[in-house]
Amino acid sequence: MFDELSKILKARDVKLVVVSKTQSPERILELYQKGQRIFGENRVQEMLVKHGSLPGDIEWHMIGHLQSNKVKQIAPFVSLIHSVDGFGLLEEINKQAKKTGRVIDCLLQFHVAQESSKFGLSPEEAEEMLNSPEFANMKNVRILGVMGMATFTSNQSQVEREFRQLKGILENLKSTHFADSTYFKEISMGMSGDWELAVENGSTMVRIGSLIFEGMNP
Ligand SMILES: *Cc1c(COP(=O)(O)O)cnc(C)c1O
Repeated sequence: MFDELSKILKARDVKLVVVSKTQSPERILELYQKGQRIFGENRVQEMLVKHGSLPGDIEWHMIGHLQSNKVKQIAPFVSLIHSVDGFGLLEEINKQAKKTGRVIDCLLQFHVAQESSKFGLSPEEAEEMLNSPEFANMKNVRILGVMGMATFTSNQSQVEREFRQLKGILENLKSTHFADSTYFKEISMGMSGDWELAVENGSTMVRIGSLIFEGMNP
């Protein structure tokens, strides 16, 4: 599955984040040897262990809800944080990035699904954040775009509506806050069950786990 998927996404210029949470280092290495470099984790502790034991040129993406008090541990190496869902978190990322002399790339996570359990900002909250003088002074974070998760449902038109909503949010923020930016363009959406629909609706980055690992040796 990996080879096929990777080829399709490359042809469409969509980045593949292989979601390696709960997977063994051996399985990750197997994909690394096929050329995969971007892996996504949702827990800080697990990311730390894997970062410490796997090749140094892997780009580690944080895709899960991140607590401010844990930012410090991943700040020296994390490549992209998909899950910025609050002002305090962004401030902490900026602070820790500054301490390690880095600029950390981030995505703003939006709540577009119907389930109440999914984290994320509303467009109003994002506006407030981006309009604040504090944000204007954050020199150690760079916002590359948006991330979201669609409702877990077989209703394709609902999923599609939510993906379009996320793309609309990106376009709106682009025109209001990032008009001069060449890097504010990423839409992280699409997982094992809905990646095709996500790509059709403008995804630039899909986060896929089970579909890839299901058929592999343990
Ligand atoms: C686990 C996870 C994924 C991948 O889900 P699969 O259905 O296994 O592809 C994507 N995004 C987030 C935020 C996740 O936690």
